[in-house]
Amino acid sequence: MKLIFKGHACKYAAEQMLLTLFPGERPVYAGEDPNVVTLTLSRADTWLTARAVLDWQERRYCGGARAPSASLTGEPLNDGRIVQKILKLAFYRAGTAALGYEPPWGAMTGVRPVKIPTKALARGASEAEAEALLRDEYRVSPLRRRLAMDCARASLRAKASLRPDEVSLYVGIPFCPTRCAYCSFVSAGVGRSLSLVASFLEQLQAEIAGMSGTLRDLGLRVRTVYLGGGTPTTLTAPQLDVLLGALRRETGLDRCTEFTVEAGRPDTITAEKLAVLRAHGVDRVSVNPQSMDDRVLRAMGRAHQGADILRAFELVRGAGFPCVNMDLIAGLPADSAAGFRSSLDQVIALGPENITVHTLALKKGSRLMEEGAPLPLDSAVAEMLAYAWSALTAAGYAPYYLYRQKYMSGSFENVGWTRPGFENLYNLCMMEELHPVIALGGGGVTKLVDPVGGRIVRLSNPKYPQEYLTAGEKLAAKREKLAAFFRAAAADAEGREEG
Ligand code: SF4
Repeated sequence: MKLIFKGHACKYAAEQMLLTLFPGERPVYAGEDPNVVTLTLSRADTWLTARAVLDWQERRYCGGARAPSASLTGEPLNDGRIVQKILKLAFYRAGTAALGYEPPWGAMTGVRPVKIPTKALARGASEAEAEALLRDEYRVSPLRRRLAMDCARASLRAKASLRPDEVSLYVGIPFCPTRCAYCSFVSAGVGRSLSLVASFLEQLQAEIAGMSGTLRDLGLRVRTVYLGGGTPTTLTAPQLDVLLGALRRETGLDRCTEFTVEAGRPDTITAEKLAVLRAHGVDRVSVNPQSMDDRVLRAMGRAHQGADILRAFELVRGAGFPCVNMDLIAGLPADSAAGFRSSLDQVIALGPENITVHTLALKKGSRLMEEGAPLPLDSAVAEMLAYAWSALTAAGYAPYYLYRQKYMSGSFENVGWTRPGFENLYNLCMMEELHPVIALGGGGVTKLVDPVGGRIVRLSNPKYPQEYLTAGEKLAAKREKLAAFFRAAAADAEGREEG
């Protein structure tokens, strides 16, 4: 779709709304395109007005939005927050008139919708006021508003349980037995890169030692640990033993209340590995079927069957893990609403403490994206998610965190469901950006959260195992940046106290 701007330069806002409403379209700025939107911004003494004129499939649709000019104080007229908001809303109104329906998350384009009610509640707004914000300013549907409010409450509870000197630790193990068709993660199949695992683990132990020293110097304590990837249980039992031993020895983990290991692929789970995890204090394991239908699993390139999940789950329960998570994906190619229902029913029957229901997102670099695979219709995905809502609620689960991704079927969401008392604090910290999450290993992104302004600083680790092996200097520089961030935050806090 061709985007034309008059009176502003809000490319980002326009592109975000284009992606939300017309995910099949790409922005065009030069040349001809049969579909065109013209976004105009004009300012008068009283009102700042945005107008969208959308020419879509040979028909014209219009939308508008405005804000008091006085509200602009201190904001750039060209692309400030309020300008972006009214331009998005004008485009949204024209776009939904053309489409004939409103998406579940309305005009919300961000990936963390829960932050809006959470911030409002933290400022002292009532629940009704926080929900009204979602309804009136973003046109979020009633069901999604309820979902966001449930998650906002969980986020505030989690925030209240954190101390200012605590951080979470993420350790990325970028190896998997095979590559799933929907995966864009830089994950090397061990078949091809087995030779890299031993050197990768050596470098990782050096990074753990270096970062632990930095955290000690800064007086920071690890509250939660999450070993993800990839599939960490691709490592052998002795390798896991050495890695987890190093983690506990170097980091102390005396304040750690939650230790998760992703054991996503059942074909990597053995009783020996589970015994090692338990011996090192791991208390949450994620066993991820994605689907229980063998046909769907085969189409996704996963080298296991539904029956393997049942066997792996039994092993995990037998090993005594108090919390088990299972992931499912709604909208996989070759799946159907009935197939998804059956997968979810089988998972609920197993009784894991957490069930995470993802919606398929088409990611760049994934086999699905490259092959242009046919996906279930949005209406089928909507049916799957509606069933998930009713079945999980009836089985005693409640939603506690959610996030959205680009190129997601039907512009829905991923939701973490939990039995009462088993909310995963790491996921809440990560998704709601409640406190710093420090990433070690391959492909992780450290997120430092400024305790006052909420500013986020991201520091990426190398993506490819090969790059990671030679990244000693880069990792040392990351530790220095991280230390500088915390020292500046502490100085800020001291300055404010004195002031
Ligand atoms: S298990 Fe996860 S990280 Fe590994 S290939 Fe599949 S989606 Fe990617």
